[in-house]
Amino acid sequence: MTASRPPLKSLDDALVELLGFAAVLQGVESVSTFEADGRVLAQDIVSALHVPPQDNSSMDGYAVRCADVLQAQGVVQVTQRIAAGASGAPLAPLSAARIFTGAPIPPGADAVVMQEDCEVLEGGAVRIKAVPVPGQWIRRAGEDVTLGSIVLSKGERLTPASLGLVASIGLNLLPVVRRPRVALFSTGDELVMPGDVAPAQMKPGTIYNSNRFFLRALLVRLGCDVTDLGIVPDRLEATVQALQQAAQQHDLILTSGGVSVGEEDHIKPAVQSLGSLDLWQIAIKPGKPFAYGQVQDTHFIGLPGNPVSSFITFLLLVRPFLLQLQGVTQVAPKSIAVPAHFTWARADKRREFLRVQRNAAGGLDLFANQSSGVLTSAVWGDGVVDNPPGQTIAQGDVVRFIPFTELLG
Ligand code: AMP
Ligand code: MG
Repeated sequence: MTASRPPLKSLDDALVELLGFAAVLQGVESVSTFEADGRVLAQDIVSALHVPPQDNSSMDGYAVRCADVLQAQGVVQVTQRIAAGASGAPLAPLSAARIFTGAPIPPGADAVVMQEDCEVLEGGAVRIKAVPVPGQWIRRAGEDVTLGSIVLSKGERLTPASLGLVASIGLNLLPVVRRPRVALFSTGDELVMPGDVAPAQMKPGTIYNSNRFFLRALLVRLGCDVTDLGIVPDRLEATVQALQQAAQQHDLILTSGGVSVGEEDHIKPAVQSLGSLDLWQIAIKPGKPFAYGQVQDTHFIGLPGNPVSSFITFLLLVRPFLLQLQGVTQVAPKSIAVPAHFTWARADKRREFLRVQRNAAGGLDLFANQSSGVLTSAVWGDGVVDNPPGQTIAQGDVVRFIPFTELLG
């Protein structure tokens, strides 16, 4: 009689446990705003001025006082010219200021009339052909950002738009959490590096190391400094040695392969011999053989060897872990409800992440081969369907879709 195995941990439970280990890295750096895309703020950013700093015109035209225009029956003298970058004098009674987009509204003016609604007359006067309404075409001081307000909060990840915003309040340097230092290695005696052996010369049983390439790229996108330790042979001593080396001066050791239960899988015993293995195997497909542990106070994450499993577990587990290390508070990807334009008849006991593509009709198409070794599915797909355990999908069923745009940055 075989002993019944305990149920695998759910993804949600595993994530809670995993994130419980991800204490924010100590260490704040001041980086140029130019270089800060993707970094995470270590402090709230407070504005020392209004944006825009003064009321200004949103049109090329004439700044007027509405009551004066009415009194003068639409014809007023143009007494000054205010271009962007200049500043005007107080508006004289019954007059208008020629004004351009972005130029400050002169004191006393309460509206801008766009030039299309004006007729230039002889002798420096202008006829206002449309009755102006107070406030029209004026961008108010502080309508974007008010002095003293928090523009961005600690724990927010900077985007190109937020770099523009902090620049608009005058910041050329930003306080960000330091980059995580990640040691990466692949396990597998079958692995060969592209470039080392030409396709025609590949020995039977060997394959190219593909995981190393996407894992490294994903780590870099998440702001990590990566030490690439290459390929480690499928031997316990070599694995122990590689882990020991990787534990030096890194925050995280990330490996792929060798974390299942086969005789050639040495990751688990190696981690256990050097530290602790706190999490192992998760009820998801692809990606069951996922492991978290610690090696000499360094985080350890072991990803499955199958490329799609490795890719998906990175996105679902390693990404939030690395973001939280950097202080990000919102690490869960957003999913959206989209109709399936396919059927999925084989319900699985595990929660599945199916590679799909959005179509022009607003639905989702399924990649035909969902095998965990078929990396083409992840290239063709623009996201995954998050399918609950035991769930079949019929044409038109509304499913939860997580776009890769939520997961890859
Ligand atoms: P493992 O998790 O080591 O049992 O590997 C599972 C499958 O993934 C095997 O077919 C391996 O050959 C393959 N695999 C492991 N590591 C890699 C890698 N770095 N690149 C491509 N395939 C890999
Ligand atoms: Mg292996």
